Amino acid sequence: MHAIGIDIGGTKIAGAVVDTFGTIVRQSRVPTPAGDVTALEDAVVAMITELADGTESVAVGVAAAGFIDASQSVVYYAPNIDWRNEPFREKLEARVSMPVIIENDANAAGWAEFRFGAGRLVSDMCMLTIGTGVGGAIVASDTLFRGGFGAGAELGHVRLVPGGLPCGCGQRGCLEQYGSGRALMRMAGEIADGGGIGLGLARVREERGKLDGRGVGDLIAADDPGALAALKQLGGWIGQGCASLAAVLDPQLFVFGGGVAAAGERLLEPVRRAFVEHLPAQGYHPEPEFAIAELVNDAGVVGAADLARVWVQRRG
Ligand SMILES: [Zn+2]
Repeated sequence: MHAIGIDIGGTKIAGAVVDTFGTIVRQSRVPTPAGDVTALEDAVVAMITELADGTESVAVGVAAAGFIDASQSVVYYAPNIDWRNEPFREKLEARVSMPVIIENDANAAGWAEFRFGAGRLVSDMCMLTIGTGVGGAIVASDTLFRGGFGAGAELGHVRLVPGGLPCGCGQRGCLEQYGSGRALMRMAGEIADGGGIGLGLARVREERGKLDGRGVGDLIAADDPGALAALKQLGGWIGQGCASLAAVLDPQLFVFGGGVAAAGERLLEPVRRAFVEHLPAQGYHPEPEFAIAELVNDAGVVGAADLARVWVQRRG
């Protein structure tokens, strides 16, 4: 029983036919026609039609960044695409001969990890996608948590520092401002300015014109003391955030995806340490595992496809 997953990113649309084991049997990729909603819809329809040809797929799951309504039909708001209250499901179902669901991209990636990746052995999992910003996904009692209006699990906007740094969401002190790739670059820049252990970062900043993910990532992999100090700061904030999340969700596992998760154990170590330090009822609260995501690039399409198939099966 195959299903089609489509992941609409800011720069590319990825699509795949996925089997019941989460294995990709066919895939496709095109640039996102950014700024042209009609061209975007046409591109998605063309991709679904091409992927569906000869594969007997039963449903389509479309993942996109943004707020999706609880019935998985309407995109209230998308940060990268000019969608406002867009009835995307209805529009697609009018043009393709399969049921369609729309899902938030971080939720789709989290579901893929839960079903086929790092979370396959647990019932309760919390995933943080640490890219430019921070995305979140929650699986509670084997079910993807969406919230009453469909806009839940926005874990990047949990408040960590009252009156802290301003956030793109309009509030202050959100986890995203202290635990994202952008925050890591800020911390690395401050360490580079300070001399001492920051000399390696300062040299890379001069060579590359700025501190970016590649430059800082290479230094982390080489155990540069300044880059590791920045990562430790970042991990400290993320660990604090996870301690608060554990008070609400009590997951067996925290999974980290996104570009910064490539740091692996070097990220997990300071996260674990800060988590234990800030955990309510420390010493009496069972401690979850911390892991790096396993499905890196394909998580969005695999998760969207699987959610669509599960939805069709439940509907009967
Ligand atoms: Zn925010």
